[in-house]
Amino acid sequence: MAIAKVIIDVSLDKEFDYLIPETLLPQIKVGVMVRVPFGHSTREGYVLSLADSSDYTGGRLKPITGLCETRANIPEHLVTLGRWMADYYCCSQEQSIRTLLPAAVRSGKIKPKIRRLYRIADVAAAESFVACNGTKPSAALRVDLVKALLAHGAQPADSLKSLVPAFSQSGLNTLIRNKIVETVEEIVRRDVFGDSHVLPSKPLPPSADQKKALELIGKMLLGETSSHVLLLHGVTNSGKTEVYLQAIAKAREMGKSAIVLVPEISLTPQTVRRFRARFGDQLSVLHSRLSDGERFDEWNRINNGEVQIAVGARSALFAPFRNLGLIIVDEEHESSYKQSEAPRYSARDVAVMRGKLEGAVVILGSATPSAETSYNASTGKFLLARMAAQVDNKLAPRVTIVDQRLAGPPEPGKSNFFSKALITAVFDRMRRGEQSIIFLNRRGYARVMICEECGFEARCPDCSVAYTYSRQRETLTCHLCGGVIPAYELCPQCRSPKIRYAGVGTEKIESLAGAVFKPARIARMDSDTMRGADDYEAVLERFRRGELDILIGTQMIAKGLHFPNVTLVGIVNADLGLSMPDFRAPERTFQLITQVAGRAGRGDIRGEVIIQTHNPENETIQYAAQQDFDGFSKFDLEFRQLLAYPPYTHLIIVHFRGEDESMVVEFANGFTAELQRYGHEGIRFAGPSPAPIERIKGKFRYMLVIRGSRLKLLRQALRVLALHRQPPKGVEVYVDVDAQSLL
Ligand code: ADP
Ligand code: ZN
Ligand code: ZN
Repeated sequence: MAIAKVIIDVSLDKEFDYLIPETLLPQIKVGVMVRVPFGHSTREGYVLSLADSSDYTGGRLKPITGLCETRANIPEHLVTLGRWMADYYCCSQEQSIRTLLPAAVRSGKIKPKIRRLYRIADVAAAESFVACNGTKPSAALRVDLVKALLAHGAQPADSLKSLVPAFSQSGLNTLIRNKIVETVEEIVRRDVFGDSHVLPSKPLPPSADQKKALELIGKMLLGETSSHVLLLHGVTNSGKTEVYLQAIAKAREMGKSAIVLVPEISLTPQTVRRFRARFGDQLSVLHSRLSDGERFDEWNRINNGEVQIAVGARSALFAPFRNLGLIIVDEEHESSYKQSEAPRYSARDVAVMRGKLEGAVVILGSATPSAETSYNASTGKFLLARMAAQVDNKLAPRVTIVDQRLAGPPEPGKSNFFSKALITAVFDRMRRGEQSIIFLNRRGYARVMICEECGFEARCPDCSVAYTYSRQRETLTCHLCGGVIPAYELCPQCRSPKIRYAGVGTEKIESLAGAVFKPARIARMDSDTMRGADDYEAVLERFRRGELDILIGTQMIAKGLHFPNVTLVGIVNADLGLSMPDFRAPERTFQLITQVAGRAGRGDIRGEVIIQTHNPENETIQYAAQQDFDGFSKFDLEFRQLLAYPPYTHLIIVHFRGEDESMVVEFANGFTAELQRYGHEGIRFAGPSPAPIERIKGKFRYMLVIRGSRLKLLRQALRVLALHRQPPKGVEVYVDVDAQSLL
């Protein structure tokens, strides 16, 4: 018996078994869209897998009605990838299959855009019509229309109107009735790029480092290397993007396609322009701002083989190429590659898997690779290519650390928030007509305890993460081990009562800056002030035109901005991120400082960076100031190994949420007890305990943190539990495999 397991398109929440009729046997494959009888109607669905028998006991199986010729099929290997995602990330098959297809394609509601054109039906008839009526005033309009169509070929009504100013639809209709003119329909692509044209670019002669990287990639494409994954580790401006462009060209020469993933924030017009300049019409750009229609068109262009290269954020990974040769993940360390809703997949890790399934090469590029990727490169699981120098051999910016605690007591009415060194440096820039960026590290939401006097920070002695302060309970909690102690009233290190529990808001800092840097022209940029992409572009444009002296901002201004006139970057509260209760805090802080520092000195003048911190001796700050990635990486990996964090273990968090705290706790405890039966040596369970952010929008949040080097079996049990152990009404449970955030 030939059985197809089908997911019904409209509901997508269950697989159903159908018989495959003899006649359809050759065409039914995994990923093909079929019509099936469902209840009293016919529905459309995707074939997820094929089987020889069925477990269905509810009666006789019905046969598949037919194929859906008009709708897109999913390539079979993407279905395989989807099944792997469902297993690995503990989500349902349906959630996983959903991610493979944009909603615009899945829904079946979007149709290709059709344009109606008018053209001459019969040239001889048209010419004789003009000859006979050329002088009749009553036929003047029709004669003009025919002449225009004879001269310019098929035209839509709009263009005809501009060719024939007296245009009238009824005149045209008469010509159609007389069989002189006819209409035709054509599918038009919704034009994503608008009318903008980009000058083509040629490959640049590669530098020595670029050449080495490209030779290695060449071997990888031929399958001559021990791994299919390459870490391309190069500082900003070392020419990584040029390597991507030439690697894609190599893959194209072999007749293969390529996917380029960039973080959404880097999907700027500048990036897109560079790819368009090199690859023109072979390129599809998958923005989050595409309309449904545009997304539909782009997906179909890829699926039909009309384009061979896709550039986009996370979901572009599922571009339905059938002969994929290369996947590039730029800024592989970016946390935005992890999706925050189910399926909670990491596009970087799924890219590695897709590459493996389809025999494609994967390039992970970064100036500050994640600990996971660095580790894999150090063990030989990934290959490594390094590019240490900037293309133009520009000097890296000069970096100084300023101890924010030594700024001394503020003068009355003034704040010591900005150090003297920073203030002097900013005024220097203003005098010279150069610009400054001041970056504020934002604390996030968790409150931590810091002593203003000596810089002491309350940390759990067992886990080396900051305690989280709870005002309601007056306690300090470690959410990794669940340890709780009463909140301090005096600093345990220096006995000072000057204990601080919260950070400073950005609004306040902008007004402080206004007073301190008078008469500077200042703009602030953070997620509170920026309503949308337009606001963002408008501020950047003013800054670019030199209408602002200082740009103050948070994480938003850390990335990718290229302003040659910015010669100074000040980083205020550089250490704040370090006190987040998260073992990734040092890594994030190092990445952030490196990125922000990279904004200084993009032009001809050497840049300067001033790092203000309460923690000048901190290793992460020191390594970041020296821009010593290797030193930092060694330090960070040793710390993680010692405490059994990723990449030395796998980490899974199970989240429990609900408005009724006791119900949440009860369910979480029962769930954990059941799961622990599948635990074995080497697996650690912590919790369930309150999350560092204990309550959001009225919901209590608890989490169970699981770590271990071999979690495969546990994950299978967890998946079944999470999907099938129904929580009581009002309680939610979800699983985050390889969680990026511990908040
Ligand atoms: P990254 O992606 O590492 O930041 P890019 O590829 O963007 O680096 O290169 C930085 C700048 O140097 C770009 O303006 C690029 O056009 C230029 N560039 C890159 N490679 C070369 C090369 N081989 N020769 C000359 N200029 C180059
Ligand atoms: Zn602890
Ligand atoms: Zn103290």
